[in-house]
Amino acid sequence: MIDLRSDTVTRPSRAMRDAMVHAPVGDDVYGEDPTVNRLQELAAALLGKAGALYVPSGTMANQVSIRVHTQPGREVIVESAAHIVRYEQGAAAALAGVQLHWVSGKRGLMTPEAIEAAIRPKDPHSIQTALICIENTHNSGGGSIYPLETIARIRALAQQHGIPMHLDGARLFNAVVATGVPASDYAKHFETVSVCLSKGLGAPVGSLIATNDEHLLQGLRRYRRMYGGAMRQAGIVAAAGIFALEHNIARLKEDHDRAQRLARILCAIPSVSLEPAHVETNIIIFEIHDARRTSSEIVASLKEAGVLINAIGGHRFRAVTHLDIEEHDIEEAGRIFTAVLNSPSNV
Ligand SMILES: *Cc1c(COP(=O)(O)O)cnc(C)c1O
Repeated sequence: MIDLRSDTVTRPSRAMRDAMVHAPVGDDVYGEDPTVNRLQELAAALLGKAGALYVPSGTMANQVSIRVHTQPGREVIVESAAHIVRYEQGAAAALAGVQLHWVSGKRGLMTPEAIEAAIRPKDPHSIQTALICIENTHNSGGGSIYPLETIARIRALAQQHGIPMHLDGARLFNAVVATGVPASDYAKHFETVSVCLSKGLGAPVGSLIATNDEHLLQGLRRYRRMYGGAMRQAGIVAAAGIFALEHNIARLKEDHDRAQRLARILCAIPSVSLEPAHVETNIIIFEIHDARRTSSEIVASLKEAGVLINAIGGHRFRAVTHLDIEEHDIEEAGRIFTAVLNSPSNV
């Protein structure tokens, strides 16, 4: 089966598992797990921040960050299709007590003008804007990348209004590899930056939040505890994270090249609509217009032929390249897409 549903489906390699087996460990709630500490230092250095905190998931990374920057009754500006909006079970409202102010972006990217319009006035009637969240790359936007220049303009606005910024950088390293912009150049515009180890980087578990502010870091650690994410001998999984950061960043370029190759194959299928130039990293969002089949029937036919993808609503589908997808898998997937999508529905 060629599994293109997500870059979360990767399994730890032999070498990564070896690193896990041999990791020295301690109790991380006491701050005594040497492997967790090493992972946090490595991530902080990569992101150009003073410190970082290891958390079990990207969702927790976003949620403890939102919690630390806000108070109940405040508002958070976020893109309307962001992970924070769609895939975190309403945690910002349920756990931090904040209201999300959705700003629509083109392929997930908000303009500084739209953000400026969403910042609330500081009058006594108005709810107060407490935080701006940006997602880079943007998952539902099709792995789209914020130009650094746009981020800098948003930052200038935020500073003018005294509003902190959080970066949901679950796939920040995809943006880094695609643009050549160092991670720290993106990160410097944000008070908190989260990155996922369990997406394209191939670790089984874990995310990190980096910050320059020791006070914020203490707050993040307390909320991690509150949210149930403080772990003990977490070095076993942190070791996989170190391995991921040391070995699997540069190779993301292969995922991008393969996504581009697959996009070009898909483009040639008459029922598919897709702009290959919109495939900036490892995520391909495309439409299939096939009056004979529903989207779940299309997914089922592809599965039967050996390819897994996700239907994401309407005529839209998502395919994602990752560590466990080789060049020959792309060629094979291309043949399967072409055969299945060009065939009548009853075969
Ligand atoms: C995957 C993802 C996350 C975190 O997801 P978890 O499953 O909680 O690790 C956060 N933000 C974005 C943009 C993501 O794609």
